[in-house]
Amino acid sequence: MGNDMLGAVLGIESTAHTFSMGMVNSEGVPTPSVSSMLQPKEGGIHPREAADHHADICENVLQELLSKEELKISAVAFSQGPGLAPCLRVGASVARSIATTLDVPLIGVNHCVAHIEIGREQCNCDDPVLLYVSGGNTQVISRVGDRYRVLGETLDVGIGNMLDKFARINGMAFPGGPKIEKLAAEWLEKNPNPSMEGLELPYAVHGMDLQYSGLYTAAKHMVEKGTELGAVCWSLQEHAFAASVEVAERALAHTGKTEILLGGGVACNTRLREMVTQMAEDREGSAHVPDRMFCVDNGAMIARLGWLHLKENEQTALEDSAVNPQLRTDQTVITWA
Ligand code: AMP
Ligand code: MG
Repeated sequence: MGNDMLGAVLGIESTAHTFSMGMVNSEGVPTPSVSSMLQPKEGGIHPREAADHHADICENVLQELLSKEELKISAVAFSQGPGLAPCLRVGASVARSIATTLDVPLIGVNHCVAHIEIGREQCNCDDPVLLYVSGGNTQVISRVGDRYRVLGETLDVGIGNMLDKFARINGMAFPGGPKIEKLAAEWLEKNPNPSMEGLELPYAVHGMDLQYSGLYTAAKHMVEKGTELGAVCWSLQEHAFAASVEVAERALAHTGKTEILLGGGVACNTRLREMVTQMAEDREGSAHVPDRMFCVDNGAMIARLGWLHLKENEQTALEDSAVNPQLRTDQTVITWA
């Protein structure tokens, strides 16, 4: 292997439901990850069950990745937090053992920051406001000085968790977000000029913060009272996304920034992508919407952030490699870029 093969980074993602491994080459360019998502037959994601799934599947995921990628691994990055502790520990253990076996640097990275950095890389944006909408996290983030600051966030559950829970009580298995999207789209096709009359739900924006649980409860009651499920799915999406996009827009206005970037699993939603694009157009700004495989949790984004750290000669000593389930977005100092 020549020198051009040096510098590839392996990334390991295991914060919640998905175990994923991906790589960036020596230039920091990502390739598609190999992922396995726990899909429980019933109920939500139990941390212990997810961790068992990750431990069972990790060897297969690694072998499949290595059968596709011929890059020489020069460092191993892993999600150090935030996330579910038992799940994080599986990824960290796999990362430690590969790094030790290959005798290459180990790099613990911040999962939320990885969503931003893969978005910046993919969409070629420079200094965006990120609307980060995932299962457990919902935050509006922007760089101030040497940190990504959380300008606003959910005060209760993540938007994805809310969607998954609403789907679950209505008989749809995890992940519920895509199923709600499908029902809403089918209903819209039959009702092309919908009115909110009779479908209003609470709209919880508190300054720069958000809340989704009141929305969930009201939507649940609406179905119980006999409103068609597709109509409620449509209204639920409209309310939840409009509130999230409103806070993102306020962040653009306050910071004077012009680029809005979407990230997290809920960013796969076509209606949300439309709303963000419309908002950016109205403000004469630009919307940046990464390919769906880079919106969901994926190993390549962890590899990308590991690569950025490595460029700055930053690595994680084994004794500092314990996971941190509560890691905050603004705890990581931005030394690159
Ligand atoms: P993450 O935690 O970032 O991996 O994202 C997982 C979350 O994204 C789950 O709550 C999913 O239900 C949600 N999700 C995935 N695809 C969609 C979609 N098309 N519409 C809405 N939510 C989605
Ligand atoms: Mg995520």
